[in-house]
Amino acid sequence: MIHKCIIIGSGPAGYTAAIYAARANLSPMMFTGPEPGGQLMITTEVENFPGYPEGVQGPQMMEDFRQQAERFNTVIKYEQISKVDFTGPVHKIWNEAGEEFQAHSIIISTGASAKWLGIDSEKRLLNKGVSACAVCDGFFFRNLDVAVVGAGDTAAEEASYLAKLSPNVHMIVRRDEMRASKIMQDRVKNTKNITIHWNSETEEILGGDDVTGVRIRNNKTGELTEIPVKGFFVAIGHKPNTEIFKDWLEMDETGYLIPVAGTSRTKVPGVFVSGDAQDKVYRQAVTAAGSGCMAALDAERYLVSIGIH
Ligand code: NDP
Repeated sequence: MIHKCIIIGSGPAGYTAAIYAARANLSPMMFTGPEPGGQLMITTEVENFPGYPEGVQGPQMMEDFRQQAERFNTVIKYEQISKVDFTGPVHKIWNEAGEEFQAHSIIISTGASAKWLGIDSEKRLLNKGVSACAVCDGFFFRNLDVAVVGAGDTAAEEASYLAKLSPNVHMIVRRDEMRASKIMQDRVKNTKNITIHWNSETEEILGGDDVTGVRIRNNKTGELTEIPVKGFFVAIGHKPNTEIFKDWLEMDETGYLIPVAGTSRTKVPGVFVSGDAQDKVYRQAVTAAGSGCMAALDAERYLVSIGIH
């Protein structure tokens, strides 16, 4: 069977694409990927999505998106796509079990994931004190000292959040300045229980079964310092989930997909992109949703143009 439209990814972009595609009678099939609902599932309060005057919890919002997509008969498959072939005109994709699916149009909305430092101790102690989400895991470290690595808005936000739970928050910043917006920098600098360690890199996260501390190296003086902490939060940015498309689609040096300007189209007819997988600038739920709508409309027009209704 050749589907009219397959959507890969289930964040605000994917669900919005599904709602539009389903209402246009494209009978979309959606593959959720490894984290159904995407990054909003690890968020708490969302106060800036229009239509929720009192705010909404991220997971609740994604549940609302899912119900709306299913109401119009989107088929949702809780599976991950691990391989694609965009030779066309019919596009082929495979799930992890090796099962093949075919579609005339594909909408990519695979989003982005947290980046890691890539040191051995980080891998070894992951979920044993090492986390990439303060909002999800901060609660486990209430009344315990923690460290946050990174100097962007995410790191600043995570440090501020953790400072409400932990007696001491250590921010590990690799340069002598922060990338975060001024308002966020001021917030962390003015929070008494946040200590910023400038020009510092993480040498090793310490601990056997659980994190017990972190050894940092001052990259100006070479001085090593051990800080006792129980939680270690990595907040150094995100990476788009676009690896499987690298042989097929245009992307920038960091892996963000590049659509034809002002559209969701790619250079491959019938393949469309939306959400954080193609957006390193705005990265908001509402902009992702808007781009998912664009992708579904572009897909619908494409299908009409090749005579598929
Ligand atoms: P950014 O890419 O902005 O920042 C990443 C930070 O991590 C940088 O300070 C970088 O250091 C540091 N870093 C990267 N790699 C390493 C490493 N290996 N070791 C140590 N430090 C490292 O990512 P964010 O996730 O913070 O933000 C992404 C985007 O989302 C930004 O545009 C941001 O403004 C936005 N955002 C907005 C929020 C808001 O408005 N409330 C909240 C969160 C994010 P260096 O500076 O030296 O490169």
